[in-house]
Amino acid sequence: MASEKDLRFECERCGKCCSDEKTIVNLTYNDILRIKEALGLNLDEINHILAFYVFEEEPTEEDKKKMVISPIETEQGLAFVGLRKRPDGTCYFYDQKKKKCLIYNARPNFCRTFPFSFEVEDNENDQERKGSPVKMKYTEKGRQYCPGIREDNPLINKKKWLELGKKTIEDLNKNYFIFKEWNEKVKNGEVEASAKNFLKMILKLKE
Ligand code: SF4
Ligand code: SF4
Repeated sequence: MASEKDLRFECERCGKCCSDEKTIVNLTYNDILRIKEALGLNLDEINHILAFYVFEEEPTEEDKKKMVISPIETEQGLAFVGLRKRPDGTCYFYDQKKKKCLIYNARPNFCRTFPFSFEVEDNENDQERKGSPVKMKYTEKGRQYCPGIREDNPLINKKKWLELGKKTIEDLNKNYFIFKEWNEKVKNGEVEASAKNFLKMILKLKE
């Protein structure tokens, strides 16, 4: 396994990240808008390609703080917004025969950044920052099953990945406030908690 210091990765196009039963492709509002635009979908069609993954047990406030994308209030309860899965657990957009993503150019940030996660460096005195406010590491899922993380694979182009990380963090920050606003509106009784109402709100936004 490659170390966290010298990150090594080369995608082997094995499709595990697109077909792992337990991997949920979480979406931001920008992901939804990008896919909608790329495929020219209407509200019902967007609703069809999405899934609202309801929590079996209500997460605590502490749990929620650790979540990269906040869950939203729906008619079924608190849920993660993600891409729909096929009954066998593969992503709705994964072509198993051709082993490729059918929405590659519009794929969600989750897929663009896999198998890495990014966060803002919070230690002001860290000498290792080297001018970058963003730090990155392998995701837990990446470490679990991505064969592209290997000691004998090339070092990544860190500059390129960190640029992607920076954009991703900006997107996640904007998304945080939009999902928060939705949840507050539901709690205040200003809007009925339904997936369709949520999507109507998203579709009024710009990427
Ligand atoms: S699991 Fe890793 S190697 Fe396989 S397709 Fe996904 S990113 Fe590429
Ligand atoms: S959107 Fe594409 S890249 Fe992402 S999980 Fe689905 S098939 Fe894979």
